[in-house]
Amino acid sequence: MTTYNFAAGPAVMPKPVIDQIQAELPSFQGSGMSIMEISHRSALFDQVISDAEADLRELMGIPANYRVLFFQGGGTLQFTAAPLNLATKHHHIGLLDSGHWASRAADEARRVGTKVDILGTAADNHFTALPTLDQPVDQALDYVHLTTNNTIEGTAYTMLPQTGHVPLVADMSSNFLGQQYQVTDFGMIFAGAQKNLGPAGLTIVIVRDDLIGQAQNLPSMLDYQLFADKRSMFNTPPVFAIYAAGLVLKWLKAQGGLAAMEQRNRDKAALLYDFLDQSKLFTSHVKPADRSLMNMPFVTGKPALDAQVIAGATDRGLLNLKGHRLVGGMRASLYNAMPKAGVQALVDYLADFEATHA
Ligand code: PMP
Repeated sequence: MTTYNFAAGPAVMPKPVIDQIQAELPSFQGSGMSIMEISHRSALFDQVISDAEADLRELMGIPANYRVLFFQGGGTLQFTAAPLNLATKHHHIGLLDSGHWASRAADEARRVGTKVDILGTAADNHFTALPTLDQPVDQALDYVHLTTNNTIEGTAYTMLPQTGHVPLVADMSSNFLGQQYQVTDFGMIFAGAQKNLGPAGLTIVIVRDDLIGQAQNLPSMLDYQLFADKRSMFNTPPVFAIYAAGLVLKWLKAQGGLAAMEQRNRDKAALLYDFLDQSKLFTSHVKPADRSLMNMPFVTGKPALDAQVIAGATDRGLLNLKGHRLVGGMRASLYNAMPKAGVQALVDYLADFEATHA
């Protein structure tokens, strides 16, 4: 049975990449050692990490004055690292409250003594639309944090809020490389790898170099300047995850790069949203203009029926459609590596279900 994995993360990776990992796992580039067994100080790994950075720079158009850092600790560690490194002047940031991960970021920033102003919230409409700025941004903030794609709520920014001279810091964890943004619109971007880039264990940080190096006495493992100076090899980096992410970046280039990928993602998303919008059984509550290209929550409105939808889907090889516990229902995540055939199989199944349960 063909299976399709709709998980929100860790998530589907490109089949050719999985095949390549399998083929070269016993002996990486004829070395007689697996990639998991080689030194991070070896010439072999140096090539892997250099290629990964160069390919990422090419794909995203990252200018030379931005540093690319390879971290561990997930997106969550960056909720702490970003304020420690960047909120050094005023110890005061703004944040757009777009849902669960944004409020987690606010909590962690406060834990390290940063004042956090909520500049707009979507709480009033249960996070089914994006928050907008309530008023012009106070220019005495160190930065404004926003979550470009809200994995649980299914919203995403296409137009960015105007923050004047205050840099934007973006948690791009769930639409990194799936939707195009202009890097220069941000002071910093971070993303855990385990959705659109590769296995868990790697987090990418892209940061403008004039914003770092101002914090004193940071723990070394949280210090962007130190990571930049040491080319992300202050300590042992996640060698396997960087290698796998590197293969995904090469695959992305072969697919035509980010513009082509975003177009494909728009087509896939439209296939599902168009179905949901005409369905008499299934509903997406998310405001159409704010809908994510990556994560689509939807419901029947009856939890027992939702459970049947999910069980029936699993039987047909349509995996991991259970919604996040905070919103219930179903959630389909359509990352870069989800083929259009997978979305079509999902829509066909939902249409069948509707026909037999109406
Ligand atoms: N931000 C967003 C938008 C996420 O979706 C997630 C994980 N689902 C996180 C942050 C937390 O990431 P991690 O588990 O890598 O710490």
